[in-house]
Amino acid sequence: MKKHIHVIALVPILLCWAISACSISPSRSNQPAGPVVLVVESFLADIAQNIAGDRLTVETLIPTGVDPHAFEPSPRDVARIADSSLLIISGAGLEKWLQKTLDNAGGQHVVIEASKGLQGRAPREGEEAGHPDTTPQELAVDPHFWLDPLNVIRYVENIRDGLITMDPAGQDTYTRNAAAYILQLKQLDEDIRAQVEQIPPERRMIVTNHESLGYFADRYGLQIIGAVIPSVSSDASPSAQQLAHLIDRVRSTGVSAIFLEVGANSRLAEQIAAETDIKVVTGLNTESLTREDGPAPTYLEMMRENTRLIVEALR
Ligand SMILES: [Zn+2]
Repeated sequence: MKKHIHVIALVPILLCWAISACSISPSRSNQPAGPVVLVVESFLADIAQNIAGDRLTVETLIPTGVDPHAFEPSPRDVARIADSSLLIISGAGLEKWLQKTLDNAGGQHVVIEASKGLQGRAPREGEEAGHPDTTPQELAVDPHFWLDPLNVIRYVENIRDGLITMDPAGQDTYTRNAAAYILQLKQLDEDIRAQVEQIPPERRMIVTNHESLGYFADRYGLQIIGAVIPSVSSDASPSAQQLAHLIDRVRSTGVSAIFLEVGANSRLAEQIAAETDIKVVTGLNTESLTREDGPAPTYLEMMRENTRLIVEALR
């Protein structure tokens, strides 16, 4: 089986656990027995838990509703990373704070980059290509792979292979769970496609808050007219000139809605709406799940709810 583990440091922690003869962190007496799988984002933790099943407990680092682009780990977060046996990240530049945090955490860490092996998208013709302040390297990759469910198949394979490496005795469980989840992803893809087909073709255009929906748009045939924040990170802001240009694009294309992720500041979107006919749709969960009682407590429900909001606004 092909392995997609990105080893940032060495692996003795895993060897240690595998022979179960030595303590991972002897200084902390309240540690649970067995390995701690720590996942950075909530949607990714849900995906990992589906693969881990009952064999492993998966913990989430970033609380629901918190933007992973701008996350600032607390000392407690650094300690949790230091105590984890395995850290799972989405990768491709989403977690810009990570390397420094790993340095602060010290010790050795095994990190699975769930998006490893996926190819970043290039902006389509007519799309704005990134923020002028971003480096060419940052411009190169849009990290929002998970907003296309077929990309998540690769996430599942990478996580499955990482868990098997950490816990070979669980191979059958992880393989079976991964296969079952991949079937659900394929069903999700078909369902989203059927939903988006309800939008008249000439209305399949969107404006987003930051450049988050590129993979979703590519997969389901939506055209991205622009982003309020012309960057693949929400941690940026547009110039007056960029905003004026977007307003021109909204007028000339007749795009009907701006979609804002939960937690996004709506001030600029409202300003665009005041000068054009576009409506502002809030409530997309693109970077985080909601709590259990919200509309997107799992990755699959998050994607269905986002699709519902998009289709309802455009058709
Ligand atoms: Zn984002």
